Formats: sequence, C-alpha cells, structure tokens
Amino acid sequence: MRVDVITIFPDYLAPLREALLGKAIDKGLLDLGVHDLRKWTYDVHKAVDDSPFGGGPGMVMKPQVWGEALDEVCAGATPRLIVPTPAGRPFTQAVAQELAGESHLVFACGRYEGIDQRVIDDAATRMPVDELSIGDYVLVGGEVAVLAIVEAVVRLLPGVLGNPASHEQDSFSDGLLEGPSYTRPVVWRDREVPEVLRSGNHAAIARWRRDRALERTFERRPDLLEALPDAELDKQDRKL
Ligand code: SAM
Repeated sequence: MRVDVITIFPDYLAPLREALLGKAIDKGLLDLGVHDLRKWTYDVHKAVDDSPFGGGPGMVMKPQVWGEALDEVCAGATPRLIVPTPAGRPFTQAVAQELAGESHLVFACGRYEGIDQRVIDDAATRMPVDELSIGDYVLVGGEVAVLAIVEAVVRLLPGVLGNPASHEQDSFSDGLLEGPSYTRPVVWRDREVPEVLRSGNHAAIARWRRDRALERTFERRPDLLEALPDAELDKQDRKL
C-alpha cells in the first residue's frame, strides 16, 4: 500500500516509521511519503492560511496551496483522499477494513479551522474522498488522526501482523468489545487468573471469552449490542 501524508508538520508523522509500521516499510508492505505543505507556497512567509469569509475566529487553510499540493502528490494516480475532520463520518474498524483494501491513500492534514471546502469538493470530482472523524472531540490538527487511522489500517494488511488471526479476534471484529486477557504468573498480588483459562478445555474457554465480551459490551458500549443483528447471537448468548 502507498500512503502519502500532506502536513505543515512533517516531523509529527515520524512515529509512522516506528515499531510495526516501520517493519511494514522495511518489508515493502507499506510505501510512505510525508510532504511539507509549505513546499507549495511562494511568499516569504510561506503562508498556508487566511482569514475566513463571513468573519469569525481562527484562520482557514488556503485553497491555492492545497490544490497544487494535491495535484502534484496525486499526479498520475487515482488514490483515495482522506481528510480528517471532527465534522466527518466516524472512523470505525469497518472503515479501517474498507481502507485496507485500497492500494493508495492520501491524507490531507488540516490545521486552524480546517481546509477551504472547495479543495475537498474539487478533489472529489477526480478521486474518492472521505472526510473522517476519529471521535467526538476536537484536536489541534489532523496529524494525530492520521497516526491513528494509518496504524489501524496498516495492521490489517496481509503480512503486517505476525499472527494474522490476532486481528480477527480483536474488539469490533465480531461486533463486540474483547474481554479481559491474562498471562503468567497464575497468581499476582492475590489475584488469580480465571481457572477456566488454565483448564485446556477449548470449548469452555471460547464460551467464557464470549460471555465476558458480551458482559463488557453490555456495560461499556450498549450501542454496539443494539446494533448487532439477532443472527449474530447464539442460543447461549441469548440466555445472558
Ligand atoms: N473548525 C473545525 C470544526 O469545528 O469542525 C475544527 C478544526 S480543528 C481545530 C483543526 C484540524 O484538526 C481539523 O481540520 C482536522 O484536520 C483535525 N481534527 C480535529 N479534531 C479531529 C477529529 N475528531 N477527527 C479527525 N480530525 C480532527
């Protein structure tokens, strides 16, 4: 997968070259380009923002700079453009799965009050565009959102995780939150690992894990349970 990120703070994206993502780059599974938006400015101040039409606080990112940046970064390709914004549709595991099927993603990191809307509308005439929110809160810029989205997407690419089965058991893959996990020692500060997990009885372990996942989802994210189709619940689930 090719990923391009356009930002006024290229150093902010350095963690994309660390740990699992860094290994994905080394293995040739991820090809990453980070571009400084100011490259496409021509004034002494390298200005990327201007005051908003209609008044109000804050500044808006200029269309000329963004337009040229996207023209150059997307030249000769039809990538999917991702614009992080709190006003976007929610970024979920299902969206991460969808994006993992793409061969080229371009991310446009907003700052200040965001990017002039015409940049997004213009790009949408040439490529698929998603305005995505990583949660109902407001960050200072799009870079942290890009770190979150790229990490969630790249770990789904074949060959990135050591054990491909691990993301299939993660929270959200079956519509539920994952239950608790334990490792050695069996007893730590008088707290014992549940006996069933040490029993070697795989059916009982699977049932216990499913029950804990259902309980946790009910307590913390009842909205997920409500959204789960009845067909996804087995007979034992319905008794809970
Ligand atoms: N005026 C915008 C609004 O109220 O919708 C907020 C702009 S925010 C201060 C600046 C930038 O941070 C946005 O353009 C976007 O790139 C990023 N950002 C902030 N919160 C975000 C979120 N929840 N999800 C994704 N990106 C976010």
